[in-house]
Amino acid sequence: MAKDYYKILGVDRNATEEEIKSAFRKLALKYHPDRNPGNKEAEEKFKEINEAYQVLSDPQKKAQYDQFGTTDFNAQGGFSGFDFSNFGGFGGFGGFSDIFDDLGDIFGGMFGQRRERTGPKRGADLEYNLDLTFEEAVFGVRKDIEIYRNEDCDVCNGTGAKPGTTPRTCDRCHGTGQVKIQRNTPFGSFVSVTTCDKCHGEGRVIDSPCTNCNGKGRIKKKKIISINIPAGVDTGNTIPIRGQGEPGIRGGAPGDLYVNIRVKPHPKFERRGTDLFCDVPISFIKAILGGEIKIPTLEGEISHIIQEGTQPGEIIKLKGKGVPRIRGTGRGDLYAKIKVEIPKSLNSKQRELLKKLAEEFGEEVDKKKTFADKVKDMFS
Ligand SMILES: [Zn+2]
Ligand SMILES: [Zn+2]
Repeated sequence: MAKDYYKILGVDRNATEEEIKSAFRKLALKYHPDRNPGNKEAEEKFKEINEAYQVLSDPQKKAQYDQFGTTDFNAQGGFSGFDFSNFGGFGGFGGFSDIFDDLGDIFGGMFGQRRERTGPKRGADLEYNLDLTFEEAVFGVRKDIEIYRNEDCDVCNGTGAKPGTTPRTCDRCHGTGQVKIQRNTPFGSFVSVTTCDKCHGEGRVIDSPCTNCNGKGRIKKKKIISINIPAGVDTGNTIPIRGQGEPGIRGGAPGDLYVNIRVKPHPKFERRGTDLFCDVPISFIKAILGGEIKIPTLEGEISHIIQEGTQPGEIIKLKGKGVPRIRGTGRGDLYAKIKVEIPKSLNSKQRELLKKLAEEFGEEVDKKKTFADKVKDMFS
């Protein structure tokens, strides 16, 4: 699921800042939409190149990517010590202007004209909160999720006009979606441009609206999307599903779908990053004499031999029995903490034996006193 940004830019993992920038320029010029009009593949490639560059040109994001193989995880928990706060999706092309500035005229107009109301508009991003069981998050899972998104109306094919009719160009704005208004004020005349009120900026007017979508051209539809959750995700991670947001308008790119992960707690294990922690209750006899104990793992209980005189709070580390790392390089560890259980009640035989044992250890044991005895002691 994680993309290889180095491969996308065709550079070595040890490439310098300058090499990365130069590789990006070359590719960006080659796949720029203005040079490949109507070429969907080039457009996708262009977006991919931008995405790769945005990560590899930012030292912080690059470090994060180098370590985890992804920057797609908006981790709040798990990866402590990293600042993910300024980290969002790669939705628009904002923030690139500094790079394009020195690339010359070829990019001219790109950020301006395309934003006009009548031009292509990128579809909205969608969000989905996905609850996973502890095991699903740890081992990964394939999930079908149900989302509702605005799709082109089948009846009018997205035009919004009744079948057999077509929208006509707005006569007030002549299809531009904008009108000029001259205002005469005591300080002089000003011309301002505002959205056309007849077509609401669409540039076209529908005389007979489609009855299925009420002329909107779009209708909410239920969609089932199958997504692969990689092993090792945690609460706070966000998985972007490219192009599964709402469809673009007038040929614009579709938005993305952001799946927010929420993991249910486990009755036995506590998770910190890729390590797991659990308590292992054992009897005080077992702690004193040592022997075989059972330690829970994600794959079931395993046997472990403890030494004579094992202390409460002692930690047994099971290497590689933790959570898989997202990048696919092994697993974290499992830390099992010994919890010694003291019996809350004894039968008379056990009590006698323990008193004998106490004598053997040279330990003085108080005779059992009743509450009445204690009161008597206080006044004697
Ligand atoms: Zn319709
Ligand atoms: Zn108009």
